[in-house]
Amino acid sequence: MLLSFSRSTTLVAAAFLSFLSGGAALAGQRLVQPTLEISDVPPGKREVAITLDACSGEFDSRIASALIDGHVPATIFVTGRWLRRNGEALALLLAHRDLFQIEDHGQEHLPAVTGNEPIYGVAPAGDLPAIRREVQDGAQSVLTATGAAPHWYRDATALYSPEALPAIKAMGFSVAGFSLNADQGASLPARTVEGRIAAAKSGDVIIAHVNQPHRASGQGVADGIRALQKQGVTFVRLDQVQTRSKERITVLHPPRVASRHLSGQPKHRTL
Ligand SMILES: [Zn+2]
Repeated sequence: MLLSFSRSTTLVAAAFLSFLSGGAALAGQRLVQPTLEISDVPPGKREVAITLDACSGEFDSRIASALIDGHVPATIFVTGRWLRRNGEALALLLAHRDLFQIEDHGQEHLPAVTGNEPIYGVAPAGDLPAIRREVQDGAQSVLTATGAAPHWYRDATALYSPEALPAIKAMGFSVAGFSLNADQGASLPARTVEGRIAAAKSGDVIIAHVNQPHRASGQGVADGIRALQKQGVTFVRLDQVQTRSKERITVLHPPRVASRHLSGQPKHRTL
């Protein structure tokens, strides 16, 4: 699952919660959410990169049809876990190698975060050796499944401990942030998702999910892709363009009240 927090929003929220709790200090977890944009869009062109996460779960054929029927290239981030359970979908992706670039989303869908605090209900890798193992094992799974070694990494939740980013880059991977969150972890209604994608600006790297065929969001992703096509947008994969990234800091606070009602169980399971 992936939700987006701007720095100002989270800081304001922290101040408000602090006020409610009588000024008691809230620990909060300082994490990095990298952005990503296309940096070499030719003048007069409108270029957009579709990036889709296959965390675990299944495969959304509504999105696949929009991509394949429209000859739309996309970058797909897959986990080892997803690959093990979606052989048919993998075969479909490999049958369209001209369209799809397959990259590393980790082996077991663990956030590249140190410590024990769950990130949106997802248990983190915990320490740097476990983070490196998650990246490397995920890369090996992609290589075994596709015959091509991945060069990009995006972790579960797209949030990172500050020390995780240099460790992942030192392994030779570029870290795939995004500039437009289309579906907020496949949690948004179809029309909202479609509207977000249709309004993409040139250079945007869009993130959405391709592993939730039973949720409404996926229909919005398919409709949004078709809407961009009608607008004459050029779609690119991450291996076809130059990109730029910024490291945005976000402060994450555990959902204390919610977790009490849910007996420690997250409201949404990991995607
Ligand atoms: Zn994911």
